[in-house]
Amino acid sequence: MDDELLQRHVENYAAWVRAFRTSTAPELLPVDTGDPLTALGQELALLSDTIARRESELKWLFDVVNTLGQGILLEEVLGHIYTGFKAVVPFDRIGCGLLRDNGHRLVAHWARSQLGTVRIGVGCGQQMAGSSLEAVLSGGEPRIINDLVAYLAAKPESHSTRMIVEEGGRSSLTCPLVVDRVPLGFLFFTSRHVNTYTAVHQSLYQQIAAQVSAVLRRSLVYEELLSSNRLLVEQTPALQVVATTDLLTGLLNRRATDAVLVRAWERLRSEGVPFGIVTCDIDHFKSINDTHGHQAGDVVLRGVARCLKATTRAGDVVGRVGGEEFLSVVTSCGAREQLMKTAERLRRAVADELIAGPPAMSVTASFGVAVAHRTESIADTVAAADAALYEAKRTGRNRVCFRRQAA
Ligand code: GH3
Ligand code: MG
Ligand code: MG
Repeated sequence: MDDELLQRHVENYAAWVRAFRTSTAPELLPVDTGDPLTALGQELALLSDTIARRESELKWLFDVVNTLGQGILLEEVLGHIYTGFKAVVPFDRIGCGLLRDNGHRLVAHWARSQLGTVRIGVGCGQQMAGSSLEAVLSGGEPRIINDLVAYLAAKPESHSTRMIVEEGGRSSLTCPLVVDRVPLGFLFFTSRHVNTYTAVHQSLYQQIAAQVSAVLRRSLVYEELLSSNRLLVEQTPALQVVATTDLLTGLLNRRATDAVLVRAWERLRSEGVPFGIVTCDIDHFKSINDTHGHQAGDVVLRGVARCLKATTRAGDVVGRVGGEEFLSVVTSCGAREQLMKTAERLRRAVADELIAGPPAMSVTASFGVAVAHRTESIADTVAAADAALYEAKRTGRNRVCFRRQAA
């Protein structure tokens, strides 16, 4: 080649390199001069291919990480992985397995496949101890098996390989999911063809392994929170019942009774709706415990509670506010005479009740009545009813007394 031709070829290459560096150069067509220039041209063409591939990989990495970050639910993120990886990693199936029981068991969590019927269904589990997956986790690198049939022939005990081969898989790329050195599980890419996976796929996955793992972990935490929240919401009514109920008698407990009192008092203040309080204390209850034992005492408490509840009008409320003490918030009437009648009805019901034993027993109770006034506090009204109850005890028990409060 004469010097002039050589110079022209070199100048052409230089012009192409300049164009490639500054913008998009046209495809390089190496000159075939049968000398070192041809080799240079071929190398330059390969270099340009590599750079172009690298550029599109970077764009892909950016896009995938970006899209994954937008998903919240696990299903959503795995769906993004399925569509996002299609462009750079060949597969016909992706499965996701998550570690459970402190990393001792791997459980199939999700799979999407264009192979045959999925055999490793959601919930399928396998022990990690002694499995080849343990080595993949500790190595931290994706593992390639490019001939699953041959692998199974060498390791016939591998149940999951058998399943995947039965599904139609022939090569696999097993990618560990690890967040802050804590293993989370695996993504399994499977292809219907042998020899599908190369170091390029391994390296591509490695470049976004941390992001993929972190996004999946975030989704898992989110879903765990969702399900515990759902559980809490489901349990709230039951918890509310437990929090407001006296376990022995099934009546409202002291706290819940106080809350009813507060509501009645607020209505009296704001709307002038009258109400009264009836307190009740079983007579000589201690002697029942002393004579028949604590359990018999409990039976009597339940019997009296049932009786009070059955005799209480709709709209009125009765609660157990102490050992053998009960309090009724009466909103069905507010005047003294009516309240006295209400308390008298309760007294008679208790006294007439034969509480099934053994031994069957009847007891009496004393009652104190007070009318709520908008000018006095709840505590004052309760104190007035208690004072009336004390008077009923003092004057012979099994009776109803009323205490007129200071106006
Ligand atoms: P009074 O007629 O003056 O009210 O006499 P009393 O014996 O009923 O009253 P006292 O306050 O002396 O005794 C109440 C007893 O109630 C004492 C306590 O051990 C018993 N008690 C409190 N809570 C329970 C309970 O949940 N179960 C049983 N079995 N007994 C209880
Ligand atoms: Mg008492
Ligand atoms: Mg008593």
